[in-house]
Amino acid sequence: MPFVPAIVYVALGTNLGDRHAHLDAAFAALAALPGTRLLARSSRYETAPLGPAGQQDYLNAAAELETTLEPRALLDACLTIEQTRGRIRAERWGPRTLDLDILLHGNTTSQDPHLTLPHPAMLNRAFVLAPLCDLAPELQIVGRTLAQHLALLDQSGVRRLPAA
Ligand code: ATP
Ligand code: CA
Ligand code: CA
Repeated sequence: MPFVPAIVYVALGTNLGDRHAHLDAAFAALAALPGTRLLARSSRYETAPLGPAGQQDYLNAAAELETTLEPRALLDACLTIEQTRGRIRAERWGPRTLDLDILLHGNTTSQDPHLTLPHPAMLNRAFVLAPLCDLAPELQIVGRTLAQHLALLDQSGVRRLPAA
């Protein structure tokens, strides 16, 4: 049975190589997935890195999709897109060419470590919520809108880039 279309939000991050090219390719690859429409893309943000010291700043963004891909199929597709951009997993939170995290997939909730929904860290990360709030500031989650969650966080390491 085909999966009913869901609205999905994906976080994009990159801090290795040609960061803008990685984001361009990621948006294009998401838009080209079967059963999927790219409804909107956020501004790009330059953000201070999380994890091991000495890394380049990140570029972060977010995508709004409508898709009939169910969550596991979309995760597999995201991991494949990361691979096509040369993602190598070495140290935890180390530098990466492309990271795609599924933040929300419709109303689906999952505690599976292989695919946890909503993404467990999204509400604690200004570099995730700032781009996401370009797309869905009024979306309610855990008793607040996303904009209200963002306002609770330190946003000093997050800088919106002017549109290219
Ligand atoms: P973080 O999840 O803290 O942002 P990370 O993005 O650096 O860390 P990765 O190495 O990219 O972590 O991913 C590790 C695993 O996380 C993936 O292989 C995937 O199975 C799992 N995972 C769990 N929930 C999600 C989700 N909502 N979106 C993407 N991956 C997820
Ligand atoms: Ca991540
Ligand atoms: Ca990830």
